[in-house]
This record gives sequence, structure tokens and C-alpha cells, in this order.
Amino acid sequence: MFIGDVLNILTLSNRMLVAYNYKMHIPLVIIGGGVIGLSIAQEIQRKYPKLEIALFEKELYLGEHSTHRNSGVLHAGLYYEKNSLKHLLCIKGNDLWHSENGPFVNNCGKYLVATNQEEIIELERLYDRAKDNGVKEISWCENEDLKPLQQFLNVRKAFFSKKTSILNIPLYLKDLEIKLQSESFYLLKNQKIKKITYKNNIFHLETDLESVTCDHLVNAAGLGAIEIRKMLGLSDLENHYVKGNYLKLKKKYYNKSLIYPVPLPGLKGLGVHTSFGEDGLIRFGPNTEDVQGVDYSQRENLIDQMYPEISKIFKSISKGDLERDFCGIRPKIKLRGKIYNDFWIKSGEDYGLKNYFELCGIESPGLTSAPAIAKYLTELIEFHF
Ligand SMILES: Cc1cc2nc3c(=O)[nH]c(=O)nc-3n(C[C@H](O)[C@H](O)[C@H](O)COP(=O)(O)OP(=O)(O)OC[C@H]3O[C@@H](n4cnc5c(N)ncnc54)[C@H](O)[C@@H]3O)c2cc1C
Repeated sequence: MFIGDVLNILTLSNRMLVAYNYKMHIPLVIIGGGVIGLSIAQEIQRKYPKLEIALFEKELYLGEHSTHRNSGVLHAGLYYEKNSLKHLLCIKGNDLWHSENGPFVNNCGKYLVATNQEEIIELERLYDRAKDNGVKEISWCENEDLKPLQQFLNVRKAFFSKKTSILNIPLYLKDLEIKLQSESFYLLKNQKIKKITYKNNIFHLETDLESVTCDHLVNAAGLGAIEIRKMLGLSDLENHYVKGNYLKLKKKYYNKSLIYPVPLPGLKGLGVHTSFGEDGLIRFGPNTEDVQGVDYSQRENLIDQMYPEISKIFKSISKGDLERDFCGIRPKIKLRGKIYNDFWIKSGEDYGLKNYFELCGIESPGLTSAPAIAKYLTELIEFHF
């Protein structure tokens, strides 16, 4: 599941070191080589092709954390509070993925299914919210649409979202890394930012290997974003980690479209649903598990724990058909001790940090929203040439 080309990395790192020996000041530094940091780099490069940008990633490969550890679903924008950043950037991001990255998108659509009366009421609420949110191409299923599904699913009522799709993340990232290569883009993998100081409107960043200064700093460090802002003296946000585990189905199953449950009130995710990659194999997940830090191990009894949620909807699946697969950690945040439910995308002006920009709490639908987040952030930055 992790991508990378060692030769390529060595070449880029060497070029970087040479460049820095010659010149230690860079106009813009981005911290984080996940889908958000990379999309921002791409958007800024498009707008200012000559601007020198350095992107620091602490791992050897890009996207090793949340970007690779998710369902890969491009959401249509059904669930989110009206006019929140999640709502607006998800809808815009979904449109951008479909119009600009078609070759990496599987237009499979998704069914939202209700199995009992309580869920039917929630499903109807969700449909109304989606309509109110301006979500395009959703439609109630007729009886003849439900019949083929009932072979696999316990379903009493359902609607279909045509604009929900799946992204081939490994292929997309590989392509993006190639597209980003240019004389003015420096990619530093395996380099963790460990210290930042800010003086006279200049940021000074240190890793074990490099020491650079920059005028503009973008913190897109995902699960590490709170640690980065602490280096700058900002302490009003804290992490609230929620793990999401996936199980792999060992046999062939219905994989024409995604199947999602109705998220009942109070749930920390969207409910255990199906997802599938190029191999067509089904994964069930993600569940929700409060954790204290970033630890990607999975519990021994995970199958027992997740099975009731799966068998409630999906027919003919036994525990023996399932095996533990992978997990991700949702980068949720708290603001002064209270859960903050929207994306946190801010400029540092309010904190007296001119030309600092931060993206925290970029949980789902962060993958979907990435191209729209990149445009939004780029609008916030003013470069003076
Ligand atoms: C279980 C799960 C399921 C999800 N499903 C979906 C979905 O179906 N659809 C959807 O739209 N979204 C989904 N998401 C959300 C989506 O995965 C994230 O919003 C997105 O990946 C965030 O990308 P990112 O670049 O902010 O974070 P990351 O991919 O985590 O990238 C941040 C990078 O910063 C690097 N970094 C951290 N600290 C430092 C440092 N000090 N120095 C240098 N580098 C550093 C990290 O190594 C990392 O590579 C899901 C998330 C989870 C956890």
C-alpha cells in the first residue's frame, strides 16, 4: 500500500542539499507531504510557477499517514453542517476531482441504506439535508432498484448518490509527485521539522539535517499539525485522536457501488461501510476507537467487535470470511477543551504570526476537499515579489 521510488528520493534529496548549501532562504515552506500539503504545493506552483517552494515530509515516502489510511472515497457532501468549510469545500473538491483527475476516479456511486424504521427516519433527514446542502444527483431507490441489492443486504429503504466515487490514491500520488518536479520545487523526505523560531517576520526551521529560513510557512502536518503550532507558541488547540479500523473480506462480494449505513446521531464517523480498490476486494470500516496517540496496531478481538455492525446490513458474511487489515487515525481537534467539528484553516495574523498558515482537524472529507482546500488556502496567502 505504500509507494515510493528510492532512486527518485535520493535524486531529489541530493538536489535539495546542493540547493540549500547554495541558498538557505526560501520564500515558502510547506510542512507535510500528505494530500493536503501536496495539493497546496501544486496549486501555488500553478499560480506562481517561478516561486521557490520547499516541502518537508518526515517520512521516507509521501502520504504514509492519513492520506493512505482511509476509505479513498470522494464524498458528495451529504453529511455536513450547512455552510461549514467541510460542506463547501467537500462539494467544490468533489467537482474538481471529477473534472481534473478523471483517470484516477472510479465513478461507482453509493447507496445509503436503512434497515429498520428508526434508520428510515434518519435516512429521510439525511436526504433532506443533502438536498438543502445543494448535493447533486441523489435519488430515492424504487422497489425494482432495491431487489438486486436485497440479495446481499438487509435494506428497507435506500437512496443513491451518483457523485460519490473512489480515488486510486497510490496512482494519484505517484502522478502528482512527478508533476510537481521543477527547478523551483524542493522536496525533502525523511526530514522532520523539530524546531521553529519566528523573528522579524522570518521563520527559522530546523531538522536533523537542514536549517532554513522562509517568509511564508504553511503547516499541513496532519496528525503532527498541533505539535508544529506548539513550536510557535500556540496552545489553544489539542489533538483528539479517533482510530478507524478496516477489515478485509476474503471472498468476492457485491462491489458495483459503495454501501453506507445511516449514521445515527452521536456517531463519531459515518458508520462501517464498504470500500474497494483496484483489486475489487471489499474492505469494511472504519469503526471508531478513542486512542491516546498515533499507533497503527489493531486489537486481537477486532473482528468480534466489528462483526455486529457488519452483519446487521451485509448478508452471508461469517467472521471467518474477515481478516484484520489496516487502520487510520482521524486528526480531530479540540479548541480550548471543546470538540471543534469543522476544518480549522487559519492565517496566523490573529496570533501575531504574519505569513503563517495552518490546517488542523483535516479529517474526513479532507481527501475529497483537498483540491478545494488548496485553492482556499492559496487565496489567503499574499506574495510580494
Ligand atoms: C479512517 C479514516 C478514513 C477516512 N476516509 C476518508 C474518505 O473516505 N474520504 C475523504 O475525503 N477523507 C477521508 N479521510 C480523511 C482524509 O484521509 C484526510 O483528511 C487527509 O488524508 C488529510 O491529509 P493531510 O495531508 O492533512 O494529512 P496526512 O496524510 O497525515 O499528511 C500529513 C503529513 O505531515 C507529515 N508530518 C507531520 N509532522 C511533521 C513534521 N514535524 N515534519 C515534517 N513532516 C511532518 C506526516 O508524516 C504526514 O505525511 C479519512 C481519514 C481517516 C483517518
